[in-house]
Parts: sequence; structure tokens; C-alpha cells
Amino acid sequence: MGYDSQNIFAKIIRNEVPCDKVYENDHVLAFRDINPQAPNHVLVIPKGSYISMEDFSENGSDLEITEFWRAVGQVARMIGGVSDGYRILANHGRDAHQEVFHFHVHIFSGCDLGHMIKIQNG
Ligand code: AMP
Repeated sequence: MGYDSQNIFAKIIRNEVPCDKVYENDHVLAFRDINPQAPNHVLVIPKGSYISMEDFSENGSDLEITEFWRAVGQVARMIGGVSDGYRILANHGRDAHQEVFHFHVHIFSGCDLGHMIKIQNG
């Protein structure tokens, strides 16, 4: 399956769909999740066309990867997650229930996030 340029995050990058922007630079965009699972729930995405962590880690340039992970840390600081804690998460593929096929990292903060993840029937 190739990258679908009509996915919702591609449309957000092209300004065809609005977002609640938190941070942007030449390589990265961060915006609030439309269906937040914590008081602060922000998505960080590269502007390049990568399907998931698998694609990005294999095919992203050193510059894109460096800029991306620096931005994840910067956004976590911006939303106040450092003192009390935050969690980052990236879904790849079926078993992780990835819904949007443009690579993104979730950042959650602002409450007790519980212990790791819940695995049903696991
Ligand atoms: P996943 O692909 O499962 O890692 O998660 C996709 C995430 O994108 C979900 O948490 C959705 O709530 C979020 N989402 C989908 N559409 C939008 C949108 N237009 N703006 C912000 N977040 C979105």
C-alpha cells in the first residue's frame, strides 16, 4: 500500500483542512487531536509523505528524523508535560489500530495517564 495523498493529515499540511496548530517549522507540524484522550493530546507529524514509523524510520532523511524528534520534545515542553510527565505513542498497522496513514506521534499529558497500555485478549 502506497502513501495516500488524500489522507486527512496530508490535507491539513496543504491547508485544505483546518487544525488547532500548536507548533510548526519547515519539516514538522503539531496540532491538537480532534478527539482528545487526555487534557493535552497533541499530534506531531512530519511534513514529508510517510505512512507510519516503519516508512519514516526507513526512508526519512537524517534531517527530517532529527527535526521530527527534536520537535516532539519541544512540543512536550510547550504543552507543559515535563514537570508532571507525558507519554508519546505511535501506531503502526493493523494490530496497533492505526487510523490515519500519515506518520504521527501522539503526545498525552495533563493527568495521571495510568500504567502503560491496555491490551484486550492479549
Ligand atoms: P491513529 O492513526 O490511530 O494513531 O490515530 C489517529 C488520530 O487522529 C486519532 O486520535 C484521531 O482523533 C485524530 N484525528 C483524525 N482526524 C483529525 C483531525 N482532522 N484533526 C485532528 N486530529 C484528527
